[in-house]
Amino acid sequence: MIKSKLYFLIAFLFSFTAHAQSPKEKGLESINRQSAEAYIGFLASDALQGREAGKHGGCIAAEYIKSVLQDMGIKPLNSNSYFQPFEAYSRERQTRTRFSIHPDSIAKYREERAFRKLKLNNVLGFIEGKKKDEYVIVGAHFDHLGIDETLVADKIYNGADDNASGVSAVLQIAKAFVVSGEKPERTVVFAFWDGEELGLLGSEYFVSTCSFTSSIKGYLNFDMIGRNNDDAKPEHVVYFYTESSPAFGKWLKDDIEKYKLNLKPDYRPWDKPIGGSDNASFAKRNIPLIWYHTDGHPDYHQPTDHTDKINWNKLVDITKASYLNMWNMANLTGY
Ligand SMILES: [Zn+2]
Repeated sequence: MIKSKLYFLIAFLFSFTAHAQSPKEKGLESINRQSAEAYIGFLASDALQGREAGKHGGCIAAEYIKSVLQDMGIKPLNSNSYFQPFEAYSRERQTRTRFSIHPDSIAKYREERAFRKLKLNNVLGFIEGKKKDEYVIVGAHFDHLGIDETLVADKIYNGADDNASGVSAVLQIAKAFVVSGEKPERTVVFAFWDGEELGLLGSEYFVSTCSFTSSIKGYLNFDMIGRNNDDAKPEHVVYFYTESSPAFGKWLKDDIEKYKLNLKPDYRPWDKPIGGSDNASFAKRNIPLIWYHTDGHPDYHQPTDHTDKINWNKLVDITKASYLNMWNMANLTGY
């Protein structure tokens, strides 16, 4: 009798330890294709009209992201709102000036007879860390190119890869941190930038007005992570990272091996990764960063950037790899 009880106790303890998951792994397991398809399916649908910054479709995208964060239990970064509103100005459109958020440019444009103004919104949520005053940020832009009514066939720039794919990754990482059930060491901010296609407006506005820029320990950016640049290399992903943080390279190598992720990264350490996307706004302030990107393709900035062309297996594995990066960024020191 006693012997059999002991046997059951040992069997029970063994099965418990065999299946015990760390908080990090619990979060990792919540990342899946189903969520990626749901997020991208909505954001890149024709109903969103190409999510142009400041237009109806862009506003719907921002409202949707806010609702998803709210449902997950992610709190708004600014105590009363998930939205960070800002304005961008330019000259009238015949002069083809870029929109700007810089106060000096705005003052100049406002003096002209005709000028243009856009009302934009970043969407920002966060999980408070044990160290409330140290921050890490993961972000992606949600705006795209809108509609061109004069196009003869497909008029909508759906932007499934650019950058509904990146938005889906940030949302899944937010969910994974919640599911892990563990408070991170540092505060983790989940950022969705508006106006990237007009010149990195949202991320630049955020960083230039941020009260804690010097306490941002790292930034991870996504811009286009769902396509194959070369069909013969479906595992290809470009992994840019700040050269002076070699740990970023090691983290990815180790996690790909440990979690059997099907990725073949092109590792590109870079002294100051200021090109291409919202990472530039952070690199300019010398914030260490990681940037995932699956390279250009014929549908880049075309109305044919559609959801059915996404490589879901790769997108999910990039989301998992970057969640593990963020877990390290939020919890480790010395990178
Ligand atoms: Zn983009």
